[in-house]
Amino acid sequence: MTDHAGQGLTTRIIHEHSLEDAHGSPHMPVYDTTTFAFDSTAALLDVVDGRRAGALYTRYGLNPTIFALEESLAVLEQAEHAWAFCSGMAAETALFLTHGRQGVVCIGDAYGGTLELVGSQLPELGIRTHLIRGDELDGLDGLLAGGARLVFLETPTNPTLEIFDIRAIAAQAHARGALLAVDNTFASPVNQQPLLLGADLVVHSATKYLGGHSDLTAGALMGSKELLAPVWNWRKNLGSMIAPATAALLARSLRTLVVRVRQQNASAQAVAEAMSRHPRVQRVLYPGLPDFPGHALARSQMQGFGGMLTIEVAGDGAVATRVADRLRLFILAPSLGGAESLVTQPCTTTHHGLMLEERARRGISDSMLRLSVGLEDPADLIADLMQALG
Ligand SMILES: *Cc1c(COP(=O)(O)O)cnc(C)c1O
Repeated sequence: MTDHAGQGLTTRIIHEHSLEDAHGSPHMPVYDTTTFAFDSTAALLDVVDGRRAGALYTRYGLNPTIFALEESLAVLEQAEHAWAFCSGMAAETALFLTHGRQGVVCIGDAYGGTLELVGSQLPELGIRTHLIRGDELDGLDGLLAGGARLVFLETPTNPTLEIFDIRAIAAQAHARGALLAVDNTFASPVNQQPLLLGADLVVHSATKYLGGHSDLTAGALMGSKELLAPVWNWRKNLGSMIAPATAALLARSLRTLVVRVRQQNASAQAVAEAMSRHPRVQRVLYPGLPDFPGHALARSQMQGFGGMLTIEVAGDGAVATRVADRLRLFILAPSLGGAESLVTQPCTTTHHGLMLEERARRGISDSMLRLSVGLEDPADLIADLMQALG
């Protein structure tokens, strides 16, 4: 095998494979196989007891298609290792049950499912959890001193694109013997590699940019072998394994991840700049705009500013709803990262369940529209926004 260390992300994703297909396929085909045969009981026991790596049973993740995907997932985040899952939430659940049992601090606006899991379901199991806003970071050290052992955050956040300082928070967690896990779904590994900034674990909803075509549901967890090893039994017995066909589809998507995300970065920047000049737009939240509050920090830890932005239209929530309903290219749907551009009004979807007052405290107004910029020609996307605002 050629040594690809030091080469670019896409080169490595395309060419770095330790497993070769018996028939010379340049990529790993789908092994839609539940169980694998052995020549002898001794050979079977070698795999069962971990003396030899090999295929055994698909729910365990011991399947060549899943192995190949996990190699690429590890490359993406420059991690020692990666585990694939059937969804982002499956990855998070296994992460929290493995490393969060002594207490979790979740910083900022996390994904709705994460907030439900950390805010109410883990406490039902007797796990102490704390949700703190970005303006409450002063309290982090006290919570760590009180015994919380896992810090979790997203950056940029949804929908206000708040940027958290991964280096500083990792240092703060480590000083108290805690771990930092970052949900890197919004940024994607093309724009931000949290492990290189000091985080211990990275989680992804691969349903979004990694999959990139709104046609698969999957998750991933990346980190050191030491931190990932104890997650294995939870994934195995929660039964949260990715299906081989989905693993192959996701591996295919990863080969185009860099070109897709770079285009989405450029298109989102163009949309953000056009929107910031529009008289009916009050505010544009996008890390790539020089006057965005998190811009300098984003520059210091991101290589690109991403495909997600939020605009606040002049007027009330009803005006924003009308704009969302008039858009033709932007599809009204609460997800992100695909080839199709999407629009959501956070107060009607992702943050619908929050009390008005809590939404206000988080800086989420009814007149906000969150845009996931896809791969359509940026001029067409801007024209669509212009007609909907006009
Ligand atoms: C969608 C999403 C998740 C959950 O992922 P699923 O694949 O839907 O389980 C977690 N975090 C973020 C930031 C997300 O956008």
